[in-house]
Amino acid sequence: MSETLNTTKVHNYSAGPCILPNEVFQQASQAVLEYKTTGLSILEMSHRSKEMVAMAENAVALVKEILGVPSGYSVLFLQGGASLQFYMSALNFLPINGKGGYLDTGVWSNKAIKEAKRLGNIEVLASSKDKNYNYIPKGYAVPSDLDFLHYTTNNTIYGTEFFHTPKTDSVLISDMSSDIFSRPINVADYGLIYAGAQKNLGPAGVTLAIVKDELLGKTGRDIPAMLDYKIHVEGESMYNTPPVYSIYVSMLTLEWLKKNGGIAWMDKRNQAKADLLYGEIDRNPMFVGTAEKEDRSRMNATFVLANDALDNTFSAMLDQANISGLKGHRSVGGFRASMYNALPLESVQVLVDVMNEFERTQG
Ligand SMILES: *Cc1c(COP(=O)(O)O)cnc(C)c1O
Repeated sequence: MSETLNTTKVHNYSAGPCILPNEVFQQASQAVLEYKTTGLSILEMSHRSKEMVAMAENAVALVKEILGVPSGYSVLFLQGGASLQFYMSALNFLPINGKGGYLDTGVWSNKAIKEAKRLGNIEVLASSKDKNYNYIPKGYAVPSDLDFLHYTTNNTIYGTEFFHTPKTDSVLISDMSSDIFSRPINVADYGLIYAGAQKNLGPAGVTLAIVKDELLGKTGRDIPAMLDYKIHVEGESMYNTPPVYSIYVSMLTLEWLKKNGGIAWMDKRNQAKADLLYGEIDRNPMFVGTAEKEDRSRMNATFVLANDALDNTFSAMLDQANISGLKGHRSVGGFRASMYNALPLESVQVLVDVMNEFERTQG
C-alpha cells in the first residue's frame, strides 16, 4: 500500500504521541464503526470475546515474530505508561537488600532512578549530566554484585542513543520507549524490556513489556497484583480489562511493519532518514547538532540554530511547509526532529529543503 500522508499533508515530527501509518488510522477508524462483520464497534466489545482474545493473541505473536523473542519470555500489554514501569521494574527485580545499577542519561532514566530508590539500594554507575546529557557514558565500571542494570536505550529529549548493549553479568533491564521496533535487538540479552506504546508502536494507553519468566517471583516482596508481572503473565494481559483499542491500533502498526519487511526494513529506512537529516545539519552552517556525533539518536535529532535570534523566522518557515512538532523539549530548547518509524523519508526531505531555503534566504 502506498504511504500517503494525511489529506492536509502535515509532516508530523511530534516526539510523542506521534505519527502512525496512515493506513493504520484508516483501519483503526473503521473498527470504531464496526469491527470486522460483528455488527459491533470495537469500543463496545468484551475483551474476553473470541474476536478480542484472538486480536490480543495476534498482537503478542507479532511482537514475538518481529523482535525474535525467544521462548521463556512473555509479552505483556500493561497500563500506566513507561512511567509506572520505572517503579514496577524495580519492585519485581530488586530483592529486599538487593542492589540495582542505573545509567543516568537524562530525564527518563532519572525518573527511573528516583522510583527505584523508594525500594532499596540504587547505584548510579555513570551519568552524562555534566554535559546536559548530550552523550552516552562509556568506560564506566559495573559492580559484580548488582541484581540488575537499568538503562534507557534512546534518550528522547536529548537525542542520544545507545548503539551498544551495556556489559553486565546481572539482569539487564531497558526502557526502550522511544526506539523499540526501530532496529534489531537481541531480546535474550534482557531480563525485562518495557516501552510506552506512543512513540513507535501505537497510541498512548498501553505499555509493552517483554519479561523473562524465570526471573519473576524472586524478590521476597509482597507485590500488589496490578504491579506484579507474574499476575499479568498468568492472566495473559487480561488480569483486568486491558486497553483493548490501544492494543488493537498497536497490532495494526505491527502488521504494517511486518508486511513492509519487518525490522530489517525499518532499520534501513531509519538509517536513511537519520543520514539525510544529520547530513544537512553538518553541512549547513546555519545549524548546530547538540548531541555527540557517535551517540546521535536515529529517532530524535536535536539541534539549535547558529544564531538563535532567527528561531522565530525558522519556525515560521516550518509552519509554512506544514512541518509540525519540531520544537525542542522545554528542558533543552532549540529544535528536535522526531523521526519515528512511521515518518516517511519524504517528510525528512521536506525538512531538509526548508533548511536549505533558510540558509539561502537568511545566511
Ligand atoms: C516518553 C518516554 C517515557 C514516558 O512514557 P509514559 O508512557 O508517558 O510514561 C519514558 N521513557 C522514555 C525513553 C520516553 O521517551
